[in-house]
Amino acid sequence: METTTAQNSDHQGKRWNHLRKILERSGPFCPPNFTASNETLEFLQNTCKILVIGAGGLGCELLKDLALMGFRDIHVIDMDTIELSNLNRQFLFRRADIGKSKADCAAAFVNARIPGCTVTPHFCKIQDFDASFYRQFHIIVCGLDSIVARRWINGMLISMLEYEEDGSVDETSIIPLVDGGTEGFKGNARVILPGMTACIDCTLDLFPPQVTYPLCTIANTPRLPEHCIEYVKIIQWPKENPFGSDIGLDGDDPAHITWVYEKAQERANTFNITGLSYRLVQGVLKNIIPAVASTNAVIAAACATEVFKIASSCCEPLNNYMVFNDSDGIYTYTYEAEKKSDCLACSTVPRPVDVVDPNTMTLQDLIQHLCDSAEFQMKNPGLTASINGKNKTLYMATVKSIEEATKGNLTQSLGELGLKDGQEIMVADVTNPNAILIKLKFQSNEVEMA
Ligand SMILES: [Zn+2]
Repeated sequence: METTTAQNSDHQGKRWNHLRKILERSGPFCPPNFTASNETLEFLQNTCKILVIGAGGLGCELLKDLALMGFRDIHVIDMDTIELSNLNRQFLFRRADIGKSKADCAAAFVNARIPGCTVTPHFCKIQDFDASFYRQFHIIVCGLDSIVARRWINGMLISMLEYEEDGSVDETSIIPLVDGGTEGFKGNARVILPGMTACIDCTLDLFPPQVTYPLCTIANTPRLPEHCIEYVKIIQWPKENPFGSDIGLDGDDPAHITWVYEKAQERANTFNITGLSYRLVQGVLKNIIPAVASTNAVIAAACATEVFKIASSCCEPLNNYMVFNDSDGIYTYTYEAEKKSDCLACSTVPRPVDVVDPNTMTLQDLIQHLCDSAEFQMKNPGLTASINGKNKTLYMATVKSIEEATKGNLTQSLGELGLKDGQEIMVADVTNPNAILIKLKFQSNEVEMA
């Protein structure tokens, strides 16, 4: 359809009226440092540069929201390609896009649809860029499903902080991080001012490593349909081998799922447990939680609103953690997550690790602890310590030659390796672009006081 120049300019004139009402008038909720002015919209449109990490369920919503809110210089990073199962909620993609880059397709869609907005795509990992790339942005907003990636960008923004002579953070070096996350009908949105407020690692124990049910509950006192499914999976399947002795349970095989479903239903009936369904069996067996489009929409809108508030100063930002749940009615709650004084990522204090007995705890045990415990949740840590004034690599799996040279240390005890009480160890892991410090704390052992 043809539009005249007059219609276009008319449209342009009215296009941002809704934003002008907020930005060019003062109001009772405006913080004292806000000055109503037409310069703020000018800043949002022509200066402010936003990075969106992730172009999936949250990312598509975020890009649409931010572009419609007047941001015109947006970058997006995503390493994934589009799959058929994305199309029900990742609405910037079409069937013809399957197999193509999410970042590229999302950027092309928004650029074609929203005049004046330029989304720049990056089809790669966040780890492919260094601080010089991240420093160009005013605000970074994450729509990720990976905790490792969240922790990595969090660590990157903390490493970019600069400090005043008195040790306080130079506020001009802070890049605010707005983080959204969803899981089924639950979600959260949070605002992180690196170095100032609680960071991702400060609240790491909010993300338990994995849901597991105690075996005694599964076997003796099941209360949830999940307990019945786990029972069939762990105990009945290996005992009955319904599809032959060498056939393992396959969560993608409908015949297997049906068998587990029927057995779990029998057990649920015995214990008067309701709520079992074929889909739940699928979910438990494959350990997946279905993505819900409306949860993504709510969380992305909350995050985009926070970006707008931070960029314009028109309202105080969220302080600092909002949870949302619409599985049973609609519930939201906001609280202030606290900065942890010995946070792995944002404090310079080495994190203590308790060692019960340095003569029985091996290096392998220590590494296992760093991976399994809720406060560390590392993936593949490499350890270096200074022993008798010399730097010594205790173990590192990421470089093959070093792995070969150090794997003998794994079975040695901490005592045998010459590690002392109070020993500081540098730990490098994919969860942070920088190494962090831990400090061994030997439990006061049986030294008899006279
Ligand atoms: Zn922290």
